Amino acid sequence: MNPPSLRHDDFEIALPMPLFLVVEDVGWWQGRDGSAHNEPYRTGMTRRHCLADYQVLASLAQRMSMRIQLAMVLCEWDRTDMLRQVPSATWMGGQWNNTGNRGPWLEETADFLRRHRQHLEIGLHGVGHEYWEKGNMQRAEFHDGAGIMRPPDVVRRHLEAFGLLLEQHGLGPFPQSFVPPALHHSFGNGGASMQRILGEFGVCHLCTIFSRARQYAPPLHEGLTWECGVVLIERGEAAVPWHRIGAAPPRCINGPVVSLHWSNLLHQDPERNEEVIAPWGDLLLAKANELETFLAHDTGACWTQYCHYCLAEVRVHGAGVEIDRGRLPDLAALSGPLYVKVRELHSRPWEVRGGKIVSSRLQGDGITLYAIQPSPGQKQLYFGPCAGRTSS
Ligand SMILES: [Zn+2]
Repeated sequence: MNPPSLRHDDFEIALPMPLFLVVEDVGWWQGRDGSAHNEPYRTGMTRRHCLADYQVLASLAQRMSMRIQLAMVLCEWDRTDMLRQVPSATWMGGQWNNTGNRGPWLEETADFLRRHRQHLEIGLHGVGHEYWEKGNMQRAEFHDGAGIMRPPDVVRRHLEAFGLLLEQHGLGPFPQSFVPPALHHSFGNGGASMQRILGEFGVCHLCTIFSRARQYAPPLHEGLTWECGVVLIERGEAAVPWHRIGAAPPRCINGPVVSLHWSNLLHQDPERNEEVIAPWGDLLLAKANELETFLAHDTGACWTQYCHYCLAEVRVHGAGVEIDRGRLPDLAALSGPLYVKVRELHSRPWEVRGGKIVSSRLQGDGITLYAIQPSPGQKQLYFGPCAGRTSS
């Protein structure tokens, strides 16, 4: 692990920790926790969900210039009761009937999600969140409480159903991100792992709590591992309990993933949702001003930067620094830019060898955030003041 920042000459440079928001359990129309009645836990709200509950997420995302990841549950979006064909996915099994959740809000909300793709990413959480074996609810949809995966053909059928539900609403393609429901998961068993199946569906980003997962082999690095092209990162404990409605943010939050549940960000009166998200936006934006932290604008940026944060080494080299990426795996999921922050008394132009600066943004307090895209296959980067100029 790198020191938080490296001082050199008259500047300070950091590979900042990404901070990124993942909101779980989005997608229910009923809020009610049904767990006492063989139904899913849902969000625990005593009202129905509505378009305003999505609008507020887009509003928070816009304020932070972030494409928030929504880990979605989709059974209550079923227009045709197609889930009768997947009886383990719902509490009604072969008698599944979603009539009560069909109404104008479906198309209205689907249209909103289609128009706000740049701020709201649809991620996979589950079809019904739990698993119904002969009609009896068990936790959770893809793994049991001991971290044993459901049979592979059942997992595939559930994932196919998730994709079909998205298609019913023009919300494809299939997601690239997954959050295991109820943190029941496993990794480290390669070809027999859920990662193998997820990879077939195009999923490449996953976050969960590693200590709650069955580990057939330990993670490759603390808080970070990869398998079958899927990069798993430690999401840490949720910032607040899952069922706390309209939650006030804690004093402190940590990256890479700020894990929240939908009802944390909602008000019992949907017209007052904005009041709930305002302090969360304040907290995240304040944290992003620090040299050692930045707001990742999307899932790919968060995952890529976290891998650099954990695995890359920064050391003084000539007038600048060398960023050694030798320990990073070559995975499509990590092919985007990395981010460095520089604090300097007098701003000057910077250059990269082995890649190029694709964006830079002044952040106040003498700090600039640079996005650096490495050249293909390039493991060593040099980042320093432009040659031929000296600091003034
Ligand atoms: Zn959940």
